[in-house]
Amino acid sequence: MGLTGLAIFKQLPKTNCKDCGQPTCLAFAMQLASGKAALDQCPHVSDAAKEALDSASAPPIALVKIGKGEKEVALGNETVLFRHEKRFEYPTGIAIAVKDTDGDIASKVAGINKLVFDRVGQIHSVNLVAVVNASGDGAKFAEAAKTVQANTEFPLVLVSEDPAAMGSALEAAGANNPLICGANAANLEAMVELAKKYDAPLVVKGNGLEELESLVEKAGYKKLFLDSGAREVNKVLADQTQIRRQALKKFRPFGYPTITFADNTDPIQAVVDASVYIAKYAGIVVVDSADPADLLPLITLRLNIYTDPQKPIAVESKLYEIGTPGPDSPVFVTTNFSLTYFNVQGDVESGRINGYILPVDTDGISVMTGWAAGKFTPEKITEMLNTSGVADKVSHRKVVIPGGVAVLSGKLHELSGWEVLVGPRESGGIPSFIKQRWGA
Ligand code: SF4
Repeated sequence: MGLTGLAIFKQLPKTNCKDCGQPTCLAFAMQLASGKAALDQCPHVSDAAKEALDSASAPPIALVKIGKGEKEVALGNETVLFRHEKRFEYPTGIAIAVKDTDGDIASKVAGINKLVFDRVGQIHSVNLVAVVNASGDGAKFAEAAKTVQANTEFPLVLVSEDPAAMGSALEAAGANNPLICGANAANLEAMVELAKKYDAPLVVKGNGLEELESLVEKAGYKKLFLDSGAREVNKVLADQTQIRRQALKKFRPFGYPTITFADNTDPIQAVVDASVYIAKYAGIVVVDSADPADLLPLITLRLNIYTDPQKPIAVESKLYEIGTPGPDSPVFVTTNFSLTYFNVQGDVESGRINGYILPVDTDGISVMTGWAAGKFTPEKITEMLNTSGVADKVSHRKVVIPGGVAVLSGKLHELSGWEVLVGPRESGGIPSFIKQRWGA
């Protein structure tokens, strides 16, 4: 997709001056090709070369941002059709629809704010609130946008095809970079004007892919989201796939993130539709339900799809205190693979044990794999016992290691001087192990 290191090298000054921090221009070109450096780190590149490299190395799908500050949502920059080819970059933004005809908008928004879930130590939530001009009345739409804006930190999607209503809503809530949704064949010019005025991203909706292409070209605006106009799930799926395929071939009119609407009146079907869109390239999916039971499956699915397959999920390798441990509390050693760590943490907690856990940095792999790969070693455990601060917290010198790596105990004792207790093979055995073996 991007340029090769050699193609980039040809455009560089070839003076090997090292100002970019690399020993040679070729080394810098290789870093650039693998995305580990940015072109502006070389101060000597010519304008002509810069232009050539910029347009050739621009991502096939533009990165477009909605909102401001901590809750800003960025979408685009995708480079692959299938996750296993590399990874998907920016998780689908989940937007919850609020209609301007809804009764108590403030309390509906308060419910949306609470759609935050803890999944293996990571916090995940919905991302946007879509204010829908269901009434057809501009003043009502503006009032609803204002109320939503005042009651949430999530960025807004303003949904109306009436430029006058959109203008009023933007006056009320246009300061926070909302997504304008949107432009179509009938209102394109007026909507582009509004988008430019507020410097805000804009949805362009076509009646099919051909019209979408021509509207994008006519828009002459670069902060776009695409909507093919399809609403039946099979058609949306086909269009989403086409748009991604063409974008990756650098067909520029389709080089933007997309927006989809899972608004089936059957709530179960709506969740199924939304999950199809999350799986197949939706930049944003707008759903009507704010029920946690509908949202948690979608958020979990998104987490699975947007996890980098080359990077095991890991917790930070540091000293963790479970409960209220004191100087006599047990010290458990494990690895920093999230699932391993959270199993141990859960079992220590459920056994009502006050203790310390030291997850050794194994690059996020599990106990037995870490041991086999030479990443879970007596040397690393000793280093962690010495540097984590645990030695100052406890008055004893006893450490519990997982049963599967009993073989480490001799060397670990020799290196660290700590007495090594071989714990159970499965963390579920920790509570009974502590009862029997931890002579406090
Ligand atoms: Fe080459 Fe530019 Fe790096 Fe100098 S700063 S070594 S010219 S790439």
